Amino acid sequence: MVLAQLGGSISRAIQQMSNATIIDEKVLNDCLNEINRALLNADVQFQLVRNMQNNIKKIVNIEDLAAGHNKRRIIQQAIFNELCKMLDPGKPSFTPKKGKPSVIMFVGLQGSGKTTTCTKYAYYHQKKGWKPALVCADTFRAGAFDQLKQNATKAKIPFYGSYTESDPVRIAEEGVETFKKENCDLIIVDTSGRHKQEASLFEEMRQVSEATKPDLIVFVMDSSIGQAAFDQAQAFKQSVPVGAVIITKMDGHAKGGGALSAVAATKSPVIFIGTGEHMDEFEVFDVKPFVSRLLG
Ligand code: GDP
Repeated sequence: MVLAQLGGSISRAIQQMSNATIIDEKVLNDCLNEINRALLNADVQFQLVRNMQNNIKKIVNIEDLAAGHNKRRIIQQAIFNELCKMLDPGKPSFTPKKGKPSVIMFVGLQGSGKTTTCTKYAYYHQKKGWKPALVCADTFRAGAFDQLKQNATKAKIPFYGSYTESDPVRIAEEGVETFKKENCDLIIVDTSGRHKQEASLFEEMRQVSEATKPDLIVFVMDSSIGQAAFDQAQAFKQSVPVGAVIITKMDGHAKGGGALSAVAATKSPVIFIGTGEHMDEFEVFDVKPFVSRLLG
């Protein structure tokens, strides 16, 4: 994962700074500039990087550093806290409760890994004794229903969809109703992939959301989207109340900085990450261990 490179660059910048005999404003600035470069290279949005630099400068007292109080630890702690803050909007997402029906709607760009992630999310809960179900409200992409059906069948998860109905709002409503009657406790609605330029598809997504009244809307984002992450995530958040983020393809060559941007744009926490194409390549996301690992 290229994110490791980001961690490596940050650690090196801190190491270099703490090797300096005298730590003055210039040494600190050089260190922070080096860290900024690493973050920008990892596709973290420019504004976020600038905010982070300003926050660190406010927190780190240059006189403490000059006096030689464990410089490395002070800076490292400040960076750790800032990265955690970037990834933690400070408000946990809705957490479904076993035995009580919850509707979870998945949205995202086309190809982000939404359909795969819906099944992974269902499978993860099924293994823990939940009764999940999948609804395919993607009537836009040919083959979407077949893909969901295939995934669901493999995981032995009930599914709902239609080859003939073209109104996704209707399918979503009917699917949710059906599975509520069957006492499913996790009803997952997969929607069409769309981009912020496609206004009519965004309107349709809003209608699906209004009709199914989801308890949680999950924004699925491909970790390789890069600098476009912020704008796209923000467009989704402006149309529907996104409450959580899942980052996919963390096993690939993505630089990963888009994850930070998506959290900032949606003000929602990352709840899971996808680490492969298989159903069980899916991990719960925890901010602190993630950042610790990142900084080595
Ligand atoms: P959708 O268009 O958003 O529904 O995307 P799909 O679920 O069809 O996924 C698009 C492609 O990404 C498929 O080839 C998936 O197998 C792949 N994919 C999804 N999640 C992951 C992941 O976490 N890691 C990897 N390597 N591939 C993934």
